[in-house]
Amino acid sequence: MEFIIIVALVTAVLILHRPLSALFNKLYISRQQHKFIECETFYHSVVSKYIRFYNRLGLEEQRRFLFRTFLFRKSRRFHYIEVKESAEMPILISAVAIQLTFGLDKYMLNYFNDIYVLKDDYHYGFYSRPFMGHVDQSGIYLSWDNFIKGITGQTPNCNVGLHEMGHALAYVTFITETEEDKHFKKEFKNFSKVARPIFTSMQGGNRNLLGEYAAVNYHEFWAVSVETFFENPVCMQHDLPELYQAMISLLRQDPLQMRNNNIGKAVFMVKAKESVKLKA
Ligand SMILES: [Zn+2]
Repeated sequence: MEFIIIVALVTAVLILHRPLSALFNKLYISRQQHKFIECETFYHSVVSKYIRFYNRLGLEEQRRFLFRTFLFRKSRRFHYIEVKESAEMPILISAVAIQLTFGLDKYMLNYFNDIYVLKDDYHYGFYSRPFMGHVDQSGIYLSWDNFIKGITGQTPNCNVGLHEMGHALAYVTFITETEEDKHFKKEFKNFSKVARPIFTSMQGGNRNLLGEYAAVNYHEFWAVSVETFFENPVCMQHDLPELYQAMISLLRQDPLQMRNNNIGKAVFMVKAKESVKLKA
């Protein structure tokens, strides 16, 4: 009799696990929406001041962007090392993560609970050269000085926030497998069909728009491609058209289309229902 009860319980858990977790997630999102409304204006004021990407979105997309940013920020622990904490910092760092994943269904980069903010260039491990940021099993590390320069366009082609979030996205998808965006994982194979030959050619000494650092290894090639895709889409489309197209397909967004429209009609290949009401 006991055996039958145990089997019945296990079967019930297996059957109900998915619908129950979907229900809990729905309830959680609904509760967070109420909290978000209280601070939406502040989030808008911070994000619109710095994130050019956000300012090119339509109103509905901006709300979706801010809500995702809010959820991301709420679920992280931010640590400040030798830098004065401000209310803007965690919001802007979260916003950059959301910029990268805005065309994807999964955007929380689950696994990375901790984000470390440092003042400027720092030394890490046994490396002799200074770091602007890095990602490892303990968290995402960013130097604030370089982060601000990146999001305000002071360093052409360089945006350390996007670069590290690119590493983080690959990490949660392929290493920890803790945040699987099915589209991203599947499409990355197609991206690599285009990207690998370019990377191999760079390792052979050829240079292109991506610069020398992209030839260090395939991880850096990917992270630099992310930076260039958002920071210099005009040149990327011109110089590396196949890679640019592969990035559009992979991230389901086209920064160039956003710039050309310039009226907030961004091209996001998201499900139609997602744009109807406020959803993350
Ligand atoms: Zn890197």
